[in-house]
Amino acid sequence: MPENASVMIPYLTHQFDLDEAITIPDNPQSRQQAVTGLVSNMPTVDHASGSCSVCMESFSKSEEAARQVSCSHVYHHNCITGWLLNGNNNSCPLCRREISG
Ligand SMILES: [Zn+2]
Ligand SMILES: [Zn+2]
Repeated sequence: MPENASVMIPYLTHQFDLDEAITIPDNPQSRQQAVTGLVSNMPTVDHASGSCSVCMESFSKSEEAARQVSCSHVYHHNCITGWLLNGNNNSCPLCRREISG
């Protein structure tokens, strides 16, 4: 047994890997669950200013919840959900930074 065989093991965790779940293409149901869970965990923004870059509607005009993603950009709940479901990635529509749970 080579001595460096255990080097990779610290990267393996038993935690639910959201990134992995989101990028599984042939399991739409678990993908939808992962996206729904991810968006639900995003902080809501009560009085968001500006507009949603997915639908271009200003937040003040909409009663839909605004969600702040990990890069601090803000989108409507449904807009970012649809973006994550329809796109083949989990990156921010604006800055393309990876959205993490
Ligand atoms: Zn929107
Ligand atoms: Zn962003």
